[in-house]
Amino acid sequence: MVAAAPLPKIDSVTAPFWEAALRGELRMQACTACGRLRFPPRPMCPNCQSLEHEWRLMSGRGTVWSFVVPHPPLLPAFMPLAPFNVVVVELDEDATLRMVGNLVASPDGPINEVDPGTIAIGQPVRVVFQRVADDVALPRWIAVEDAP
Ligand SMILES: [Zn+2]
Repeated sequence: MVAAAPLPKIDSVTAPFWEAALRGELRMQACTACGRLRFPPRPMCPNCQSLEHEWRLMSGRGTVWSFVVPHPPLLPAFMPLAPFNVVVVELDEDATLRMVGNLVASPDGPINEVDPGTIAIGQPVRVVFQRVADDVALPRWIAVEDAP
């Protein structure tokens, strides 16, 4: 059950990410001193140690960098959904920005609706958001065709 799944811990550093997600936007911290993007959110730039940053809108496009199929023991909320996939997606804007999520066929579909055997490394994907609580929309990923 999705309702029993653990929710992300939202604090003052990560709140802008989650507020953007509720609006259907994928935003990343961008250092306003050196320009470097970073994820996950943190107070200081790991490149130049600046504390100044802005939240930049991303295209939501990326590619599958890697994926796994988790096996039991799993958290109880995920047991009935196995087997399912967990993908690591690198964003088009910066290949060092990697997000962990699930490849799904529809924004609100279950995490086991895409057969892990059909997932390919390098596959283009785009972000979608699933509202799982009043204040949480989780980013997830949907495959896109190569051809425009
Ligand atoms: Zn910086």
